[in-house]
Amino acid sequence: MTETITNWAGNITFTAKELQRPYSVGAIGALVAGSAKVRVLGSGHSFNGIAEPGPEGVLLSIADLPPVIDIDRAARTVRVSGGVRYAELARAVYAHGFALPNMASLPHISVAGSVTTGTHGSGVGNGSLATSVREVELVTADGSVVSVGRDDPRFGGAVTSLGALGVVTALTLDLEPSFDVEQHLFTELPLEGLEPGMFGAVMASAYSVSLFTDWRAPGFRQVWLKRRTDQPLPDFPWAAPATEKLHPVPGMPAVNCTEQFGVPGPWHERLPHFRAEFTPSSGAELQSEYLLAREHALDALHAIDAIRGTVAPVLQTCEVRTVAADEQWLSPSYGRDTVALHFTWIEDTAAVLPVVRRLEEALDAFDPRPHWGKVFAMPADVVRARYPRLEGFRALARELDPGRKFTNAFVQDILGE
Ligand SMILES: Cc1cc2nc3c(=O)[nH]c(=O)nc-3n(C[C@H](O)[C@H](O)[C@H](O)COP(=O)(O)OP(=O)(O)OC[C@H]3O[C@@H](n4cnc5c(N)ncnc54)[C@H](O)[C@@H]3O)c2cc1C
Repeated sequence: MTETITNWAGNITFTAKELQRPYSVGAIGALVAGSAKVRVLGSGHSFNGIAEPGPEGVLLSIADLPPVIDIDRAARTVRVSGGVRYAELARAVYAHGFALPNMASLPHISVAGSVTTGTHGSGVGNGSLATSVREVELVTADGSVVSVGRDDPRFGGAVTSLGALGVVTALTLDLEPSFDVEQHLFTELPLEGLEPGMFGAVMASAYSVSLFTDWRAPGFRQVWLKRRTDQPLPDFPWAAPATEKLHPVPGMPAVNCTEQFGVPGPWHERLPHFRAEFTPSSGAELQSEYLLAREHALDALHAIDAIRGTVAPVLQTCEVRTVAADEQWLSPSYGRDTVALHFTWIEDTAAVLPVVRRLEEALDAFDPRPHWGKVFAMPADVVRARYPRLEGFRALARELDPGRKFTNAFVQDILGE
């Protein structure tokens, strides 16, 4: 490639032989049919080699595909092109009086890239963003378009698919009536004394709850409650209300964060932590995240606490969220109500990787599944064993992509073939 293309964080430089930006679904089909190896680049917010096609491959961006956001009021759905980012989608959906049930912390990420890695927000009853998808349209290896909807037996593999089935050109998502949300922030929730029932109550105390800690002390520095105004006011006796606006990373200016102090506002301006109109940070970070069965949450937090002297020096912030079980075969929340333990690290890969390994050892007993878009070090066979429907996905990949055009080193490792 003549231009240097990196991911958002800058820790991955793509080695593809070329970057292509086709402008129509027909042009994507022709390009795919005529190429031996293809990977799609979404908005580039993943932190590992998941999008890398390798030096012989084509990196295909669909950012130049004309953005489609078609709302069907009667069906309460939206058909959106894969490259559209959540911020743009959310604004359009809101303008029509509708809402998406949940959003990730950052609205700048593409819809297709997000659902393909199992990206999620928080909430005991909220599934990953992929759970809103009712149909996915793919340009497959021979250049033809295949649509897979919820009533198709292949649907379980079709959404959270690691980009291994084809180019996702459009998705149809469920909508619900618009709602307002308030953010209430609290500080200093100790880990000591947090009993299992109480942890459950904390995480269920609002529509979406996030706990933040830098692990410099055994507890949480911040608790973010996102309350729907059509649900009861949270009763939160366990920590004191924040007295100033906060950023999840201690010391960072809160100006980039969505409105706090209980000011009600539309769902898409409260569910993400960061404002759509600001760049959330410089990209000087790495991220890891592990999703495990919710019943292990407290034990897992104590296991991290036991090594916080190792974790804290390379950590910017750790966020604890919940994700409801879903049925996507490769979803890190597949089949189990989940607690998601997220780590924003400093940008120094050499310093962070040994800590990631240590953390994975500490969490191993709880069968964690790593976030597909973030840094992890656990061996592929260990990851594989944590996905009971992996064989179903392999069969689907063989059917839609018999020549393995969309497989890269990352996917090959995970599928084990
Ligand atoms: C600051 C920041 C905050 C984040 N917050 C969250 C969060 O709150 N929750 C969470 O779960 N994750 C979060 N993430 C992780 C992020 O959501 C995922 O990495 C997500 O995959 C990024 O989407 P993307 O469009 O940038 O995908 P990319 O990184 O560009 O690609 C990811 C994968 O999707 C594939 N892909 C992309 N587009 C297509 C397409 N059209 N067709 C087929 N395959 C495609 C790529 O080939 C690749 O395999 C965050 C990341 C950052 C940098």
